[in-house]
Amino acid sequence: MPAHDVLIIGAGLAGQRAALAAATSGSSVAIMSKVHPVRSHSVAAAGGINAAINVADDWRSHAYDTVKGSDFLGDQDAIEIMCSEAPGEVMHLEHIGVTFHRNEKGELDLRAFGGASMNRTAYVADITGQAILHVLYEQLMKNHERVERYEEWFVTSLLQDDSGRCCGVIARDVRTGRMEVFAAKNVILACGGAGQTYRPTTNALIVTGDGIAQAYRVGAPLMDMEMVQYHPTTLVENGLLITEGARGEGAVLLNSEGERFMEKYAPNKMELASRDVVSRAEQTEILEGRGVGAHGEGIYLDITKVPRKRTLEALREIVNIGKDFAGVDITREPIMIRPGQHYIMGGVKTDVNGATPIEGLYAAGEVACVSVHGGNRLGANSLLDTLIFGRRAGEHAAARSSSMAMPTPPEAQLRDDAAKIDSIIARDRSGRRVSEIKDELGDTMNKYVAVYRDEQGLDKAHEVVRRLKDEAQSAYIDDRGTVFNQDVLGAIELGYMLDCAEAIVVAALERKESRGAQFRTDYPERNDDEWLKHIDITVGTDGPQVSYSPVTITQWQPEERKY
Ligand SMILES: Cc1cc2nc3c(=O)[nH]c(=O)nc-3n(C[C@H](O)[C@H](O)[C@H](O)COP(=O)(O)OP(=O)(O)OC[C@H]3O[C@@H](n4cnc5c(N)ncnc54)[C@H](O)[C@@H]3O)c2cc1C
Repeated sequence: MPAHDVLIIGAGLAGQRAALAAATSGSSVAIMSKVHPVRSHSVAAAGGINAAINVADDWRSHAYDTVKGSDFLGDQDAIEIMCSEAPGEVMHLEHIGVTFHRNEKGELDLRAFGGASMNRTAYVADITGQAILHVLYEQLMKNHERVERYEEWFVTSLLQDDSGRCCGVIARDVRTGRMEVFAAKNVILACGGAGQTYRPTTNALIVTGDGIAQAYRVGAPLMDMEMVQYHPTTLVENGLLITEGARGEGAVLLNSEGERFMEKYAPNKMELASRDVVSRAEQTEILEGRGVGAHGEGIYLDITKVPRKRTLEALREIVNIGKDFAGVDITREPIMIRPGQHYIMGGVKTDVNGATPIEGLYAAGEVACVSVHGGNRLGANSLLDTLIFGRRAGEHAAARSSSMAMPTPPEAQLRDDAAKIDSIIARDRSGRRVSEIKDELGDTMNKYVAVYRDEQGLDKAHEVVRRLKDEAQSAYIDDRGTVFNQDVLGAIELGYMLDCAEAIVVAALERKESRGAQFRTDYPERNDDEWLKHIDITVGTDGPQVSYSPVTITQWQPEERKY
């Protein structure tokens, strides 16, 4: 049985950064991913990464902006760590080969992003995630003697010993269908978010909440799950992202009356208010009949305000997206967008070293909730979160493993997981098709658990999710083979998404106030007296159990939030 000191599940930015950090300490490290590492969703990150690098900037200003962006739900000790360590991390990336954009003076160029009090977003055109991910992958290959790579292996379960400690995983080789037990002194989940729980979403098809659900199933608490980010600029046709970098470069939002409506909602920051505020403003314009498009379902993003030369240089990817997916030349005409699901602030609850309450189990990146984003994440703070807390988790797990013996994981789960997969493959067609259930789930979440929410809608969503969980038990697939059977993996992923959806809905029902991304039309005010606390969700015999944990406040007392 393969055995490693530190086994990392997920090879996006968080996973690769964790692997490199753990390897530096001399531990035996392995990284596993259900797709080739450079196809992880991190590759799609466009706009950039925040760090207070400018001499006129200060990490405390970045931290305050992050706290305010979080609507005071973020834990300030974790935010201080992230923002104070950011400049060093970005410099480290440059030193290992990330070609960040430089200005005419030869200095690192920084672009404006939402909710930030000054320009502090470092970028590589609008392919920042791709640029960083590829450089980290080069480093992994350079360290091939110290980091084993299991590429195209799909984890189906986390393993625990008798005392509840995490001691390995079960995984399936996607290429052959072979199942195997992996022993590990420490497992770091770096499996990304759960955007596919919604339809449409900006997230890749592989972003299905696997790590969140796996941790939840072994008893780890999830935190801030009600906080789901809708990005203000996604294509109406298919949910593809138009980066916030466009507004950072000067693009504006217009309604059907040609009005720059953000004047009404955020007179100081305008289009660069935080994402929850801008998405709500757009949705209000649409609901009040000032949307654009055949059914008034969109808003115009006018990028023609940005000099054409600059757009072609700094926003070239969205020039292509506009042409290929909407038939629009963004340098010459406005493009129709609307708010769309983009990111989940919630995830597996961890401390500032990535450790979860389950011994031997860590989490970092979008799968985790430290919580640095609280009720709303600022643009370009997620890449930073993945790298800072990926590195810290890698270092901490490696240090922990140095004083431990290799555990022997129980093997019974292997038979259970293999039998489950066989039974899915063998199902007859009496139930519903997996993809049909997934679509209904995505549409339901997007209808009832979106920018605006209320009790009636959330109850409805809860009812649908519970029915879909039942239906998923007999849902069928087409592929009966073993080689690259993505169909059967899709059925397993559906189970993960349903667990994530249930946790999101239960938490959203629980929080009877409006804060950050959670806007309850039946409780439209923020209520610090009762709700300045995290909602934790753990698995119970009859479904999700709710408890609370305090928000850590260090230097910034909650105040009214205005942009
Ligand atoms: C279109 C888009 C643009 C974005 N732009 C920005 C930006 O400009 N700036 C910013 O800060 N943030 C941005 N974000 C957010 C940010 O990119 C993500 O939050 C971040 O990259 C997540 O990284 P991660 O390492 O946590 O996970 P991911 O990159 O999603 O990687 C997850 C990994 O887990 C593996 N995995 C998952 N399940 C399993 C399993 N069962 N078995 C084995 N492996 C598994 C996957 O194969 C993958 O390797 C953007 C997001 C999107 C979708």
